[in-house]
Amino acid sequence: MSQQGYVAAPPYSQSQPGIGGFGPPSSSLHYGHYGDPNSSYSAPQPGVSKSTVPFGSSAPVGPPPAGTQFSQTSFQNGPGAPGQQPHRFQGPPPPSNTGPSYPPYSHQSQPAFPNTASTSSTAQLADQLSSMQINNYGPGTIPSPHVSPGHPASLQGPRLPPPTQQQISLPPGSQLPPPPASNVNGLGAQPSLPPMARPGGIPGPVSPNPNLQQLPGQPPGPGYHPQQANYGPPMAGSQLSYPGAFPGGPAQLSGAFPGGPAQLSGPPQKKLDPDSIPSPIQVIENDKAARGGQIYATNTRGQVPPLVTTDCVIQDQGHASPRYIRCTTYCFPCSPATSDMARQARIPLAAVVQPFATVPPNETPLYLVNHGETGPIRCNRCKAYMCPFMQFIEGGRRYQCGFCSCINDVPQFFFQHLDHMGRRMDQYERPELSLGSYEYVATLDYCRNKKPPNPPAYIFMIDVSYRNIKSGLVKLICDELKTLLDKLPREEQEESSAIRVGFVTYNKVLHFFNVKSSLAQPQMMVVTDVAEVFVPLLDGFLVDFEESRSVVTNLLDQIPELFADTNESETIFAPVIQAGMEALKAAECAGKLFIFHSSLPTAEAPGKLRNRDDKKLLGTDKEKTLFQPQGNCYEALARDCVANGCCVNLFLFPNQYVDVASMGLVTMYTGGTLYKYNNFQLDADRSQFLRDLRKDVEKRTGFDATMRVRTSTGFRATDFFGAMYMNNTTDVEMAAIDCDKAVTVEFKHDDKLNEDTGALIQCAVLYTSISGQRRVRIHNIGLNCSSQLADVYRTCETDALINFFAKSAFKAILSQPLKAVRDILMSQTAHMLACYKKNCASPATVSQLILPDTMKVLPVYMNCLLKSCVLLGRPETPTDDRVYQRQLVMAMGVADTQLFFYPLLLPLHSLDLKSDAVPAAIRCAEERLSEAGAFLLANGLHMFLWLGASVSPELIQGLFNVPSFAHIRAEATSLPDLDNPFSKKLKRILEQIQSQKPHTMKLMIVKQQEQPEMIFRQFLVEDKSVYGGASYVDFLFCIHKEISQLLS
Ligand SMILES: [Zn+2]
Repeated sequence: MSQQGYVAAPPYSQSQPGIGGFGPPSSSLHYGHYGDPNSSYSAPQPGVSKSTVPFGSSAPVGPPPAGTQFSQTSFQNGPGAPGQQPHRFQGPPPPSNTGPSYPPYSHQSQPAFPNTASTSSTAQLADQLSSMQINNYGPGTIPSPHVSPGHPASLQGPRLPPPTQQQISLPPGSQLPPPPASNVNGLGAQPSLPPMARPGGIPGPVSPNPNLQQLPGQPPGPGYHPQQANYGPPMAGSQLSYPGAFPGGPAQLSGAFPGGPAQLSGPPQKKLDPDSIPSPIQVIENDKAARGGQIYATNTRGQVPPLVTTDCVIQDQGHASPRYIRCTTYCFPCSPATSDMARQARIPLAAVVQPFATVPPNETPLYLVNHGETGPIRCNRCKAYMCPFMQFIEGGRRYQCGFCSCINDVPQFFFQHLDHMGRRMDQYERPELSLGSYEYVATLDYCRNKKPPNPPAYIFMIDVSYRNIKSGLVKLICDELKTLLDKLPREEQEESSAIRVGFVTYNKVLHFFNVKSSLAQPQMMVVTDVAEVFVPLLDGFLVDFEESRSVVTNLLDQIPELFADTNESETIFAPVIQAGMEALKAAECAGKLFIFHSSLPTAEAPGKLRNRDDKKLLGTDKEKTLFQPQGNCYEALARDCVANGCCVNLFLFPNQYVDVASMGLVTMYTGGTLYKYNNFQLDADRSQFLRDLRKDVEKRTGFDATMRVRTSTGFRATDFFGAMYMNNTTDVEMAAIDCDKAVTVEFKHDDKLNEDTGALIQCAVLYTSISGQRRVRIHNIGLNCSSQLADVYRTCETDALINFFAKSAFKAILSQPLKAVRDILMSQTAHMLACYKKNCASPATVSQLILPDTMKVLPVYMNCLLKSCVLLGRPETPTDDRVYQRQLVMAMGVADTQLFFYPLLLPLHSLDLKSDAVPAAIRCAEERLSEAGAFLLANGLHMFLWLGASVSPELIQGLFNVPSFAHIRAEATSLPDLDNPFSKKLKRILEQIQSQKPHTMKLMIVKQQEQPEMIFRQFLVEDKSVYGGASYVDFLFCIHKEISQLLS
């Protein structure tokens, strides 16, 4: 892809009648927080509106006739196709609050909205700072009705549960005010601040365990600066600097503290007690206690769901489950981004959509609606699909679209009388009228070339060069496939999978295999012309595994033998993808390639790569090039793959630099998954790899997918982040999308939003099912709108905010210096919090750090993002690892980013063996560890078992079946299966953590005071990183200082 992102790509027609192709593409727009740094944010161009039809042209809406006569009819799902409904839809019981009830829509008469380009909300840091105009706002400029003067952070309005948490204030300085009455974070529990103990005056936590501070052979770490200094030159126009550096030195910190200037020359620097600052664990546990194990019904517009870390049962009653959609805030500001309120708040308006998310067995799977040849019912103007946001009028003969207000006729077969409330009599019998999420069977109009799709195919493409043969990898893969192919995904009602399979091996040339069921032996065809790859056979290449089982098994037995004596160490790569795509194209089906590859493709062929890794680029403006692909080959290939529904899954087994930025590009843009096993060793890594492979092959997947996000008037989707491709500004294309992939969508105002109608979002994914049926999966969610800033803050979700910030920043590093990206993140965090303090908190607390209840852990998460190895390069981290992590995060949903940036740390020595529950986590800081303890740490990619030096021999015996600490083999990557309750319980916990994550985490055993502890300690994210990232406490000081500067 070009550095500019996904816009303005050459036309690449993949016309999807019915889902795309309306609305003029505005291909030159730059959106997002990291748009072209040389220009201010481009507001919507004149004429770029969701609809070309002027508003207000429709017939007026009359009040629904009361007491209309009706006859109860039995539910039938469409004309002539009653038998095609796989689920019998009972419909949810009418909720006590009967969902969103919208007053009649007023016809807005603004066909186009003014161009409001000059007031940036997203551009350069300097713009942000200058446009704040903080000094112009007096107290009470934007009063909040919900704020009581005595409780600055008490913003619980009438629609929310009673406050469980109160003011979070960081009173930096030598004295703390009296603790707030209902503080749950232990704030003020230890009111005296211990003196700072670090040399050099860097504020930070002091380890209570001297042993951990002086590990043998452990250098302080390059990048650790003993003096507080800016890391890199200060940015022009910016007073922000990350990490952990205070421009004026620590002596100035107290200047901003309670007591004001009088304390400037006061007592020496004090260290904050870590227990007095907001704890992510406390927030997670509070939510679990308040909402865990309960039923969460989605019957109210704008309600904030339980945290992503809280287990509950979700019941769809009109809005999409938070498993499918989570938002950064559930109340959008009414005013457009150019107005005062929104410009100050700087809270990104975004939704994280995971359209194929797995739902647990105790929740209802999606209903499938089939209207037969008629197809889905859609608004004539904006093409939104029938959903609970449509309002039926005129006795049920017409309906008004909730998105564009257009009045549509109700198709005759769909007619139903209304009750005295104006609701259809069959509302709760039809998924499309009462549920937030459901599926439609699509008609031929939604298919390529108006032909029903063929079932998808999986092609396994194995690198059989010298190293893969020698390592035993090729044999491992072939052996596994013999049994794995029995587990290809299938529809529940079908006996076997419709997915066909094919096989290719390659090194410098390609080998295709004919495995037609009628053959006695598989046949191999070699393609040596890799510049112009063609598929040498059609018939017999893609087969039904059941039918061709003996030939395929025969082939898989033979492949390792066939190349056993190979000396070939050079490989090709782009032609492999090309070959797979051509094969799918020839078979007229979508599908997935599973490519198993281990080296930099240096053989003479398209997509040949050279080693261009260069550590000297770190910290320079050219660092971004490390994240960009070499040449244009892979980008063009990705476009071809998406256009042909070819998803590329890549399993990499490198033992040196392989240029993941180039090799992984096609995987990224086709919705595939990248797996990477550094220095693959058969014994140590086979279980991790095989588990990944099995999970991926068995995964529920939608193929040849296009996603479209529609919104009600006043705002629209402007930017998209994920493993996907975009040819225009509206259609998100994915060769495939699986249950783990999430697309994050950013919204911007077009106009003022209406508090009564709210902000409605419909996300529709057109795709081909695993059985080859064309379907539309629809998720609807309604958010509130408010002109009160406090309402927006009160309904924020920090986990979704971090998902958005991570993806937008990780996209931005392709085109901007990393330091600029970090500064923007820092600046935006400060602005969001400053705006809250300015407008929603009591003026009496000017010198305190005030965090909104919903954002009190935003600083700690933001710090984790800022010091992630993607944004903060250091020579120790291989470039490929940074690129790999970047790519994974771009596709993550909210639960995955939460765990990735703030790992789970569990104490194991105190397991309650009687209970099945996972123990409560502890904060990721070294001082939370104990020498006598054992701890498990997991972040979705890595898993560590940390053992303290004086952990009890009983525990060691129970876990490892060895007598003492010294006997533990740290090289082990799994725990032995032992017949004792402790070992069994721990295994269950490991399995539970693992089962929810897309990538298999290899277990690493870390013994206190041994060398691998360095790696482990990087994941103690509240501490100062040995490589230069700020500690949580330092970061809070830094943010506090920025906020104070903004407000002074
Ligand atoms: Zn419409």
